[in-house]
Amino acid sequence: MPRIGVFVCHCGTNIAATVDCGGVAEAARGFPGVVHATDFTYLCAEAGQRKIQDAIAEHRLNRVVVASCSPRMHEPTFRKAVAQAGLNPYLMEMANIREHCSWVHADRQVATAKATEIIRMVVAKVARNEPLTAKQVGLTKKLLVIGGGIAGIQAALDVANAGHQVTLVERTPTIGGKMAMLDKTFPTLDCSACILTPRMVELSQHPNIELRTYAEVLSVKGFVGNFEVEILQKARKVNHLTCTGCGTCWQKCPEKNVPSEFDVGMGRRTAIYIPFPQAVPNKPVIDTANCRYVRHLAAKERGEKLMECRVCEKLCPTKSIDWEQKDEIIVDRFGAIIVANGYDTFDHSVYGEYGYGKYPDVITGLQLERLMNASGPTKGEVVRPSDGKHPHSVVFLACVGSRDDKVGRPYCSKICCMYTAKHALMLKEHDPNIQTYVFYIDIRAAGRGYEEFVRRVQEEYGSTYIRGRVSWIYPQDGKLMIKGEDTLLGRPVEVEADLVVLATGITAAKGAVDLMQTIGISYDTYGFINEMHPKLRPVETNTDGVYLAGCASGPKDIPDSVSQASAAAVKVCGLFSQDYLTTDPMTSVVDQMKCVGCFLCEEVCPFRAVERETLRGGKVVARINESVCKGCGLCVAACRGEALNLKGFTDQQLLAQVTALLRA
Ligand SMILES: Cc1cc2nc3c(=O)[nH]c(=O)nc-3n(C[C@H](O)[C@H](O)[C@H](O)COP(=O)(O)OP(=O)(O)OC[C@H]3O[C@@H](n4cnc5c(N)ncnc54)[C@H](O)[C@@H]3O)c2cc1C
Repeated sequence: MPRIGVFVCHCGTNIAATVDCGGVAEAARGFPGVVHATDFTYLCAEAGQRKIQDAIAEHRLNRVVVASCSPRMHEPTFRKAVAQAGLNPYLMEMANIREHCSWVHADRQVATAKATEIIRMVVAKVARNEPLTAKQVGLTKKLLVIGGGIAGIQAALDVANAGHQVTLVERTPTIGGKMAMLDKTFPTLDCSACILTPRMVELSQHPNIELRTYAEVLSVKGFVGNFEVEILQKARKVNHLTCTGCGTCWQKCPEKNVPSEFDVGMGRRTAIYIPFPQAVPNKPVIDTANCRYVRHLAAKERGEKLMECRVCEKLCPTKSIDWEQKDEIIVDRFGAIIVANGYDTFDHSVYGEYGYGKYPDVITGLQLERLMNASGPTKGEVVRPSDGKHPHSVVFLACVGSRDDKVGRPYCSKICCMYTAKHALMLKEHDPNIQTYVFYIDIRAAGRGYEEFVRRVQEEYGSTYIRGRVSWIYPQDGKLMIKGEDTLLGRPVEVEADLVVLATGITAAKGAVDLMQTIGISYDTYGFINEMHPKLRPVETNTDGVYLAGCASGPKDIPDSVSQASAAAVKVCGLFSQDYLTTDPMTSVVDQMKCVGCFLCEEVCPFRAVERETLRGGKVVARINESVCKGCGLCVAACRGEALNLKGFTDQQLLAQVTALLRA
């Protein structure tokens, strides 16, 4: 016989201001199976939990209903409390009378009546709850980091320094990400390479870290503690075990005209190359799309003639060129994954009025970083791409692809105000006579020393800030004319410039959505990863064991990316501190007698928890991998033969809830 206790929480005035909690408890005393009902100011507080525990002992309760807030936050609190009192934790149910009632109603009488009905339904459900027991599974204490920008590097180092094995997968030939492309970093103006490259080297030499550049994740199976991952190692055509990185090959490669990705098209590279001098690993790859020998082979197959080359192979002192090297698929097991795939900059070509691609002297912020950089294509000289001359007047356009509904990017990219101010300052340091103008919407400089930095750029460095958007850029007499509106003065403005720099916004990294789908984590409409909880679980994803760091979840500066990476690393170390993982027992179960083997459940399951089992007699039916199942219930809803049920949410429990409401 169920002996149910009902506990109604006031949640201060959050519930009590709209719901008569005493009256609701009084009504609950009359519900079937209820032997005790009471109300209390804060049930989640220690005194509240003790009240529940005492009542379990005093009234010999074997079921508990806590009527308070959403279970999302406090279900674990109350499960623990009842377990300490000797009750199976799954014999406790929460009735949400805050989010579902007091917060969304104003009329006290109606809200009180609704709270009473919500509790009536949960009482009917809890009477049919069965004790459930969590299971234990082992785990592989090895981390996979996806993305080798500063966030991925930091996370990998933190976890490796804690003594765990780490594999870092980076899709380009080097780690470093965008930070490696920057010249100096705001607001302290540290040289980006000087603070980043020691970490890159530390990572490559760390005994606990396996570095896989030029590689990508192909598939992820399994669950927290036990992920099975397929990694594609792209063929570099260079044996990195024997190559010493002497540089002969890329110095002698005759194909010197390939646009450099690292210099964002401002410089050129060879077909066999390292992306930049401090690249890690400091060993080259052959870009087969541009290699003369590979192109010669392709032409030969087509029956055409093209000059053979193989200069790199002939000159390599260690005979490390390996034309036979093929793409390879590596399968490995990991206990946790940190996704740090970073960002890309907005494709500003949609702003035809700014003339990018049409006028060579309209460039982006990232391109300016490369021009200012001593290891960049101009060795740090800022010159106009059109004629190689020094610009005397430079106009910056903020919010290109940010805060603009028109281009589907209503969000703020957070870093552009700051990097634009940094650029204006650095140009002045390059040439004190240069004039800089910044067109902006608002200045968003929320960070330590950030506001002061922007003010310094305006007051000390004399940059002219004009509030307003630019409507049109056009060439005139070898210059660029920028037409816009000064919205503070309410009049049109026209500025003449030698160079225009677009502060392009932050978008999800190329291929981000495919990657999220491969891993099975949720993402927003822009392709950034959704956090498990934006405030309280900001580095966790909706899939246990998968964490995030850096710009993978939205625009961030370097300090924020690094903090998140260390936070994710702590979560991983916490996970790896256990020898076994406890799995939630509220999973789906298959009645294999009823299963007809249509596998609709397999199709709808977002966690790949449905497996196939062949019964004696040859019938193939579904089976749920309880370690993988998250209890979302999609398979139960999809099953036409009613062969599936969800523990803790069985058809019988849900029908009892509905019946209780209809009979009220
Ligand atoms: C013009 C400009 C100037 C800036 N200046 C500053 C500054 O002065 N100070 C500051 O604090 N911040 C600055 N930033 C911001 C800074 O670049 C970011 O905060 C930082 O790079 C975020 O690091 P991340 O590791 O999250 O991402 P990223 O640097 O983008 O690194 C992500 C890495 O993941 C890799 N990757 C992507 N997808 C995959 C995949 N599927 N598989 C494997 N690898 C993958 C990428 O190749 C890349 O190496 C600036 C940004 C711009 C655009």
